[in-house]
Amino acid sequence: SSGPGSSTSGAGARIAERARRVVPGGVNSGQRSVPGLTDLVITGTGGARFRTADGREFIDFHAAFGPPLLGHNDPDVARAVAEAGTSLGHMGVGVTEGEVLLAEQLVELIPSVEKILLTSTGSEATFHALRVARAATGRRLVVKFQGCYHGWHDSVSLNVISTPERVGGRDPISTGILPEVLEATLVLPFNDSEAVRAAFAAHGQDIAAVILEPVPHNVGALLPHQEFLTTLREETTRAGSVLVFDEVITGFRHHTGGWQTISGVTPDLTTFGKAMANGAPVGALGGRADLMDLFSSRPGGPTFFAGTYNGHPSVVAAALATLRKLREEPVHEHVFRLGERVRTELTALYQRLDVPAVVAGYGSVFVTYFMPGYAPGQLPGSYTDLLANDAALFVGYRRRLLEHGLFELPLNLKRSHISYAHTDDDVDRLLTATETAVRSALAD
Ligand code: PMP
Repeated sequence: SSGPGSSTSGAGARIAERARRVVPGGVNSGQRSVPGLTDLVITGTGGARFRTADGREFIDFHAAFGPPLLGHNDPDVARAVAEAGTSLGHMGVGVTEGEVLLAEQLVELIPSVEKILLTSTGSEATFHALRVARAATGRRLVVKFQGCYHGWHDSVSLNVISTPERVGGRDPISTGILPEVLEATLVLPFNDSEAVRAAFAAHGQDIAAVILEPVPHNVGALLPHQEFLTTLREETTRAGSVLVFDEVITGFRHHTGGWQTISGVTPDLTTFGKAMANGAPVGALGGRADLMDLFSSRPGGPTFFAGTYNGHPSVVAAALATLRKLREEPVHEHVFRLGERVRTELTALYQRLDVPAVVAGYGSVFVTYFMPGYAPGQLPGSYTDLLANDAALFVGYRRRLLEHGLFELPLNLKRSHISYAHTDDDVDRLLTATETAVRSALAD
């Protein structure tokens, strides 16, 4: 076949084969190797598009798991990065004014953040959130929720996308983790206030921290019940545990003040990443001054925090340029409008096709779960609900979309993103192609 979704040169296959010889699995991050897409070699990005070594071009609704809220290679961010360069004379000692400006803006924008530290990734931010929570409380246990992902480190590397028989137990996503580390993490069902109250009744005095994605986007989009968030706030406050919102995805994308602004529930610590710098490698940990100051009461301590590239000038420049654009241009208005369009029109499409589907999401994020029994407007609330999703259809229609030059990651439960660079025309093309793709996936 020909067209934007088809291979023309085989250049991708040759580079991917070279990659597999020298890079384990051929990719540099766990979920970049996608069944059926093993020859995908990216050569360029711009706006809402990316290109491959085979000369294909895709309209990108995967968006790198979320960073490019403004679109790939946003010209204003790119210019700021180029001007900042990759080094400053004093990098590695002292501070730059850019880091101060960025911290000042973040403290102003995010309700719970009195002080903030920069990292290079979201994983480092969640790692340090849990370390300082344990330091502050002198306690051992961490609570996380089934379906939430907080990065690659040991305390949180369990129970993200679990098979049905693994839900309810501890389900590590990796080998090589000490069992005593896994045992120090309690896994609870999301949106289950009763389970939270029971865990605190049984273990409250041992719980250092509760960490959650306020919207668990690593399994698409589970919207939090307001009463669940307030229960978390009440129980952690009563027990003296640290409440950590992992806003690596929700931060900046859903609101410049994060989900804590949307929900009005204020965590003790918050982690950021992704959309904060529109694709530059960034993370941040901010929150209550008394907790954050544990990182600084003497040089490097008492709670240790470090990183050669923290506050890297090109990353800080990217973050400052991103925040400026979020402030000065109708970015959220645009992506929310297109997101609403996609969700409304997909819902109508599936009704017309008589396909049992739930189109979920928030703002610029959308995902379609294929499952029966949901009334209009009703949404899944926990990972267990998502076990009813038809994974074959979820992945199948996305594989078919590739043939039309549209990219939604063909992996089960993965969300899709709209950026400021997407247009109504891109959405029209997505909707038309989705209908064709779903029809042919159903016929498979
Ligand atoms: N928290 C959440 C909610 C995430 O989605 C991710 C990344 N997908 C992380 C933390 C880890 O961030 P990073 O990949 O930058 O280490």
